Amino acid sequence: MEEKAKIALVTGASRGLGKNTALALAKKGIGVIVTYCSSEAEANSVVSAIAKIGGQAVALHLDTSDTKTFEDFVVKVKQSLQDNWQTEQFDFLVNNAGIGVYATFAETTEEDFDRLMNIHVKGVFFLTQKLLPLIKDGGRIVNLSSGLARITLPGYAAYASMKGAIEVLTRYMAKELGSRQIAVNVVAPGAIETDFGGGAVRDNPEINSFIASQTALGRVGVPDDIGGAIASLLSEENRWVNAQRIEVSGGQSL
Ligand code: NAP
Repeated sequence: MEEKAKIALVTGASRGLGKNTALALAKKGIGVIVTYCSSEAEANSVVSAIAKIGGQAVALHLDTSDTKTFEDFVVKVKQSLQDNWQTEQFDFLVNNAGIGVYATFAETTEEDFDRLMNIHVKGVFFLTQKLLPLIKDGGRIVNLSSGLARITLPGYAAYASMKGAIEVLTRYMAKELGSRQIAVNVVAPGAIETDFGGGAVRDNPEINSFIASQTALGRVGVPDDIGGAIASLLSEENRWVNAQRIEVSGGQSL
């Protein structure tokens, strides 16, 4: 019997690293549920780009900061798995959606803290929990952390602490989901040229060249440095990699 194509759900796949990951997975023949929060048109163009290379994708709205919406989202995922792939479960969850807030420890507001916490920690925790019944036994989860959970750069106390939490959560997920043969890893990108944090890494020449000077491979990362790395982590060849933090940064701040 022909093996069914695998399916991934990538949060925040309308732009940046999530988009690049969705495309990299689609190139490997994996179907993708692309989620967007505010960028519906961009998400639809990711779906079209995937269709153009012969792949299959669908875009769904998701606000990962709003746990009250997760039950409805799960219903929509179920429906879309049925409508598009005639199946009830998917294989890979990539918890990528995120925002950057630059503020020193002294200046971080409670509002910024809560916003970051809701998206980067609470959202990942409860979205994954709600999606568990839809993830196949033997499936995989990749959470997105950041080089900033290891490298200490002023201005990211709240953000980086929350990425640190995701690294701990990854180990707990791996431990508890192991009985279902679900492997869970965390990918920590270095600074990458996307819209993240107002696009500073990409658009501010001083920040860009500073990061390049701190990186062993001598440049700042681009989305293509990340999507393929996540897709290869999700390949059969990497099935025994579990509970690991994999930094993908070109050797930043060694
Ligand atoms: P980006 O280009 O700004 O894209 C962010 C994505 O997240 C968009 O698709 C956006 O969707 C989505 N998103 C934002 N808020 C959301 C919410 N409340 N609910 C659902 N989706 C939401 O950022 P990126 O650089 O690709 O970052 C992706 C991940 O990598 C984040 O977790 C980030 O922390 C991490 N990371 C980035 C870097 C970097 O330097 N770029 C480095 C390390 C780690 P809409 O546009 O549809 O609203």
